[in-house]
Amino acid sequence: MHPLETRDVTAASIIRECTERGKGVETNLGKALWLDTPMIELIHGEGTIEKRIPAMMRMFGKYGIDIRKEPILVYPTLHYQNGGLEISDDCATGVENLYAAGEVAGGIHGRNRLMGNSLLDVIVFGRNAGIYAAAKAKETASPEKLTLAHIEKFNKELEAAGAASDVASPMLLPHYSRKK
Ligand SMILES: Cc1cc2nc3c(=O)[nH]c(=O)nc-3n(C[C@H](O)[C@H](O)[C@H](O)COP(=O)(O)OP(=O)(O)OC[C@H]3O[C@@H](n4cnc5c(N)ncnc54)[C@H](O)[C@@H]3O)c2cc1C
Repeated sequence: MHPLETRDVTAASIIRECTERGKGVETNLGKALWLDTPMIELIHGEGTIEKRIPAMMRMFGKYGIDIRKEPILVYPTLHYQNGGLEISDDCATGVENLYAAGEVAGGIHGRNRLMGNSLLDVIVFGRNAGIYAAAKAKETASPEKLTLAHIEKFNKELEAAGAASDVASPMLLPHYSRKK
């Protein structure tokens, strides 16, 4: 594959190498491929990694791996979801008084989001959602007493359905990426 292919093509290529071609390296978390990070410095010059991908360098550094000197094992993981909620220009949803923006909203990026465009999306649509929600709040009568009863009701429904959990949101990153 070309090194500048879209991420879905890259992910599919890695998976294909590990499955169909049987070339993956066995790890305790499944198969993976070597990403030749030292090659980045060989091609683009010393200091490129620190300048271009410092966060990645620091992240691996916490585990004693200098990605400028050693290749790293990689495998695709869940990184983004193309949402599902339909929103209008003002970020309103089909539910009265509920506004949405970001990954939960669908349609903005088509079926394959371009790199970097999620942060653009959350800034543009997040701002719009805030502006329109604040304007709507001014003309919407609030109940006499605000309560969290709806959350308790929802939690009871989850329990009854056997879907209760103490995890507030889905865990996207694997446990080994959360160094204590
Ligand atoms: C590893 C990684 C790297 C990325 N790199 C880039 C990049 O370089 N450029 C780019 O444009 N995009 C990138 N993205 C994508 C981008 O970060 C996300 O699409 C964006 O942050 C989503 O913002 P959001 O506000 O829609 O959702 P989130 O940031 O996921 O916010 C949702 C919030 O809701 C909370 N929540 C969930 N359920 C509940 C609940 N029941 N009750 C209360 N709170 C709840 C969550 O805890 C979370 O704080 C990356 C994503 C990942 C995972």
